[in-house]
Amino acid sequence: MPVFFIERDAIQNGTVSITGPLARHLKGSLRVRPGETVLLGESGGPRYHVRITATDRHRLTGNILSESAPPPHNVPRLTVGLALFNRDHMEWAIQKATEFGVDRLLPLLTARTVVRPKAGRANHPLARWQRIALEAAQQSMRWTIPTVMEPVSFAAWCADPGQDACRWLLWEAPRRTLLRNRLRGQPRPDSVTLAVGPEGGFDASEVELAERHGFEVVSLGDHILRTESAILAALAIVQYEWGNLG
Ligand code: SAM
Repeated sequence: MPVFFIERDAIQNGTVSITGPLARHLKGSLRVRPGETVLLGESGGPRYHVRITATDRHRLTGNILSESAPPPHNVPRLTVGLALFNRDHMEWAIQKATEFGVDRLLPLLTARTVVRPKAGRANHPLARWQRIALEAAQQSMRWTIPTVMEPVSFAAWCADPGQDACRWLLWEAPRRTLLRNRLRGQPRPDSVTLAVGPEGGFDASEVELAERHGFEVVSLGDHILRTESAILAALAIVQYEWGNLG
């Protein structure tokens, strides 16, 4: 069973009170009953082994049997700026990037971005993207939930200096440094930012802008990968070299 995330205020004196969508999911979909145990966690905080003691229409109550502290965070904080691309693949990419340890996802509006959700529209996908990240974090037993930010223009994002030690733009142009070689033997940085373009790729002018703002262009090899494949390949390489994959 996955770990389920709760807020700190759900815990009072060794007792957990679960309400809202999680209560409905545990009672409805998973049919959790009193006497059964579940794993609950605060994002970035402790994880609790809880025995459910009572349920009612809107709530489950349980006692904390044991608590475990999060492991030391010894991998770089990972941010992925991904140009918006088609809906289903975007959702798949958010789910898989979460499994691969991403900490922040920034949907980017680039010159060749076709999909452009209108800010503030009732059906804006941001809440759905965040839910996908939450569910993938629960299923993959992560200790933290990644944050999906509001879409931002590529130019504005590049210009924001941010604090990231490494800022890499993934570009399929030939004769560029391979990401693998850029990482090899380097000391592990505190944070890494990766930028990945849309189906139509980055404009050359966007690559120049990114380089002016401190991004390095790196390659994933000779094959032209789909956006979602490039995100996973890059995260896997970074996690293999500096993280906890493989
Ligand atoms: N320009 C590509 C083409 O000719 O089909 C389309 C872009 S590709 C589908 C989507 C994004 O994945 C690119 O913008 C880039 O960020 C990344 N990407 C794909 N293949 C790559 C490679 N071999 N090296 C680095 N990045 C790559």
